[in-house]
Amino acid sequence: MSELPAGGRPFLSSAFIVGAQASAAEKLTHAIPGGTWHRQLGRCTCPICGRSRSLLIEHGNRAPLVTCITTGCSSREIIRIVRARGWLA
Ligand SMILES: [Zn+2]
Repeated sequence: MSELPAGGRPFLSSAFIVGAQASAAEKLTHAIPGGTWHRQLGRCTCPICGRSRSLLIEHGNRAPLVTCITTGCSSREIIRIVRARGWLA
């Protein structure tokens, strides 16, 4: 039994950190308009390009990881915006 599923993302790591950071990513997903949470991953409207379901939210080590999958908006800028709007504590 392999610990690494196809795609190379360690499957165990996200289960391992379920707790404070898990809820941070999930809370952020629900705070952003249109956000939906799917077990380990959030999808919502990107606050920069405004494309619906373009923003992925995953658990990070210190803060949720955000990725705009459609236009590749700057993750740093997205985090700055969500903090400014009070969506991320
Ligand atoms: Zn975007």
